[in-house]
Amino acid sequence: MTQSANTPQNLFGLDREQLRACFAEMGEKPFRADQIMQWIYRRTADDFDLMTNISKDLRTKMKERFVIKHPELVAEQVSQDGTRKWVLRLDGGNAIETVFIPEDDRGTLCISSQVGCAMDCSFCSTAQQGLNRNMTTAEIVAQVWFAAKTLGGDFQNERVISNVVFMGMGEPLANTAAVLPAIHIMLDDFGFGLSKRRVTVSTSGLVPYIDRLRADCDTALAVSLHAPNDELRDKLVPINKKYPIAELMDACRRYLEGKDRKTHIVFEYVMLDGVNDHPEHARQLAKLLAGMAAKVNLIPFNPFPEAGYKRSKPEAIKRFSDILREKKIVTTTRKTRGDDIDAACGQLVGKVQSRQKNRLSGIPVVTQ
Ligand code: SF4
Repeated sequence: MTQSANTPQNLFGLDREQLRACFAEMGEKPFRADQIMQWIYRRTADDFDLMTNISKDLRTKMKERFVIKHPELVAEQVSQDGTRKWVLRLDGGNAIETVFIPEDDRGTLCISSQVGCAMDCSFCSTAQQGLNRNMTTAEIVAQVWFAAKTLGGDFQNERVISNVVFMGMGEPLANTAAVLPAIHIMLDDFGFGLSKRRVTVSTSGLVPYIDRLRADCDTALAVSLHAPNDELRDKLVPINKKYPIAELMDACRRYLEGKDRKTHIVFEYVMLDGVNDHPEHARQLAKLLAGMAAKVNLIPFNPFPEAGYKRSKPEAIKRFSDILREKKIVTTTRKTRGDDIDAACGQLVGKVQSRQKNRLSGIPVVTQ
């Protein structure tokens, strides 16, 4: 990998292969890459001088060539339920949001992959601002590092983050060029060392990139479905006009092909009062998912200013859930977390600075 001597490279953006190539260029042994990764990711070190098994000479060379740079903290909010939201400033002044959700048996980090989002889902707060830009691999990875460091943990001894979900700002499969290398670092034994099952990519339904994810790193998959028929989904999730439900379901079946019976896809379904919460919708959804290794996660809608939707009534959510269960569809209802700090699902907006709107009428330009 060629790198100008005048522009130090951020180590967060390099997976193991790339880092090994850098050390080879420097005339160093490839295993140095493994050592450096362990320091940075397993032990959350951000100071070359802490890397005591690296010679002083090499540390000096590294300081000239590399930086370990994470986004700057702009604001932190802690919810009554322990959920934490960080607003992080990226290069260029944009801000994104990262949310940590502690539970008894796990610590889940919800990360962003784009500044804003072009998908224009009608119930989503992030969609209101349009897409500003894709995040880089370094910016995506650094969210995980920053969260572990801030929480006083690491990925070696004090593992506070057990799961990472791409459910923050952005459509991760519209930024595969940065997201896939970031996942490689998360799964690498010398990186964060997370298992595939503990990294979840959530997509609104970019069908070709679901196949690519399967071929590349095969993480857990979640699909933001939100409607059981094309007529309704076209309105709620406009990418459906390009990749309708039948194509999306075929891609989901391909994703599951050859996998063990424990593997399933989570279908997310935001509950909107009087819009998609009718018993007939539940019956249509059950028919759609019949025979598939699927779980449904019902998400009570989190209202935000100008949303134009209301949360479904508890009895409507229960009735919907009961119908799915009667049809043998595993169904959970998400407990709303962090809604007092706008950290709940669909509320991430980065209320920090104005951004150029770039909403693409619901049909995104998909990056390679
Ligand atoms: S729900 Fe997800 S894909 Fe849809 S606009 Fe919001 S962030 Fe983008």
